[in-house]
Amino acid sequence: MLELTRVSKWFGGLPALQEVSFRLETGRVTALIGPNGAGKSTLINCISGVDPAGEGAIRLAGRAIETLPAHVIAGLGIARTFQNLKLFDRLSVLDNVLVGLTVTAERSFFRSMLRLPALRHQERRLRLRGLEALDDFGLAEKAAWPAAALAYGEKKRVEMARAFVSRPRLVLLDEPVAGLNAVETAGIARHIRQQRNAGHTMLLVEHDMELVMDVADQVVVLDSGRCIASGPPAAIRNNPRVLEAYLGRMEATA
Ligand code: ADP
Ligand code: MG
Repeated sequence: MLELTRVSKWFGGLPALQEVSFRLETGRVTALIGPNGAGKSTLINCISGVDPAGEGAIRLAGRAIETLPAHVIAGLGIARTFQNLKLFDRLSVLDNVLVGLTVTAERSFFRSMLRLPALRHQERRLRLRGLEALDDFGLAEKAAWPAAALAYGEKKRVEMARAFVSRPRLVLLDEPVAGLNAVETAGIARHIRQQRNAGHTMLLVEHDMELVMDVADQVVVLDSGRCIASGPPAAIRNNPRVLEAYLGRMEATA
């Protein structure tokens, strides 16, 4: 599905990613973990084209995407959420989700501009799909609310609904439970499992090890921009290098 080969990235001469290589399997949840500053968000930005890689290859189903702009990558079927919420406060919850469809709908949208009835049909179809995505995340009844009126945990779910609404090939989730309580976190875990069962492929950046062990099929560990381990969750949990780099430091800062 997605293959990274020796991806590197520098910020002002300082390495944020150093020759990171791994692959994502179709229909699987891969967790990307590592201490703060390890390069997780930087990697998501490279994959989604928001801030391209300096070196290395990124292939989506065999196609090189590392030099493509973000909107083209989105059009190829890679959707994402952001570590810091990016919602339009004044738009309705549904309209915030429909933003996730503009990328894929654009071309057929202009085609149907020429035929108005077809456009109305298309618009209705898109809204129905938006409501369906909101329903997947337990928010259908708040579709007409302004996004600003939602609680923080609900906003995180709106962002997820927006990522999934276009039925993308790959969804990148950057810390979807950051700032959420235990009940909300369990809810997000359930949504992630549901989406996986529906066939979605995900890369999940996460700090919460319990969530990672709960929902991930594969785990990739970054430390100081390097991939130091990858494998199934049970193996990662007992990997001494990971314990030292990640868990040890977590305890030290806890
Ligand atoms: P993580 O998401 O794993 O916590 P980041 O990818 O955000 O880590 O950051 C990795 C490293 O790159 C950090 O040292 C961070 O300070 C640096 N970094 C990230 N984004 C920028 C940027 N836009 N400009 C300069 N340095 C950055
Ligand atoms: Mg981050």
